[in-house]
Amino acid sequence: MSGIEKFSEALASVQTLAPRVVNKNKVAQAIYTRQVVTVVGVKTATSRFLPVSHAGYSNETYVDKLDLLDKTRAEFIGRKLKGAERRAHMTLFRQMTEAETNNGWRGFFSDKFGRECAIPDGLCIACWNCSLFGGLQAGGVATFSRVRYFDTFSVEDGVECIQTDEAPEQMAIGNTVGEDLSVERGEASFHRYEYVKAGTRFPFITIIESPTLLDVAGYVAAVKLADQHGYGKYSANHGKFSTEFLAVSTGYPQFSVLDMLTWLENGEQEETGNGNPGNERAEGTTTENKIADKLKFEAAVGEPVSLFGSEITEIRKELDKEFKSYLNALNNAGK
Ligand SMILES: [Zn+2]
Repeated sequence: MSGIEKFSEALASVQTLAPRVVNKNKVAQAIYTRQVVTVVGVKTATSRFLPVSHAGYSNETYVDKLDLLDKTRAEFIGRKLKGAERRAHMTLFRQMTEAETNNGWRGFFSDKFGRECAIPDGLCIACWNCSLFGGLQAGGVATFSRVRYFDTFSVEDGVECIQTDEAPEQMAIGNTVGEDLSVERGEASFHRYEYVKAGTRFPFITIIESPTLLDVAGYVAAVKLADQHGYGKYSANHGKFSTEFLAVSTGYPQFSVLDMLTWLENGEQEETGNGNPGNERAEGTTTENKIADKLKFEAAVGEPVSLFGSEITEIRKELDKEFKSYLNALNNAGK
């Protein structure tokens, strides 16, 4: 049996995602299987990134940071990761629905989930997105989030990876369309802002509870889409990322984001150190590959199934097939 076959066999059926009627409400609450899938990777900023979770001042923008493991690091909080990835997941979900039905997503959502689902204030709590990310409806009906995020921090020190600039108001941070830059600007119209530089890396760990193969394939695809849409403040122009997935496992991680920070830092040092002939790596091997053997997982029962590198690409290929199965489950649930 191949890795991906073993992996999918360990997961819950896509049927469990179809909503059930609870007190006249359609609710998608997964059946608790006590299983998990852990997704581990590294996000690298490909543009300026503004991780800002506080209100700040009108003409000053500061990135979140924290003193940790002998460095001042840019902080990327789990709540912000979740927000951007949830929105990307919904975009993907609607696009796939449009591609598979003649109805358009609005009609399909109203029919199957009782309403068009809107993030964050009009959640339907019946759809795949609500089943995965959770939701609360007026009246107190809720689904719990099955995705657990953790705060993460830059591998690089803030001294190197955080830049402070003076920018004309709305210029570098907002849109420049229509602005006459030849006009001399007064002091008051300048905005002092910080950003995280391109190239800065953030390791991440995400845990999906009671997972189906559709959940895992959808999550991986949503992360890739969120990389294009952008994270953080002014994400229309900034906060683009490239994500490398290092491992996907049916076990719990035996390491933390803090361990990964240390491993990635040490990886750099080894790379610049004297060449040990016994330790030479193949052309094109990334720093991240070197930590793959440190990523240990543990399952509550039995041996976890862990996929690395190209095997993770196989999970993404399952998305279309699993999504069709989900639509079938929804259509059969109404009969
Ligand atoms: Zn929903």
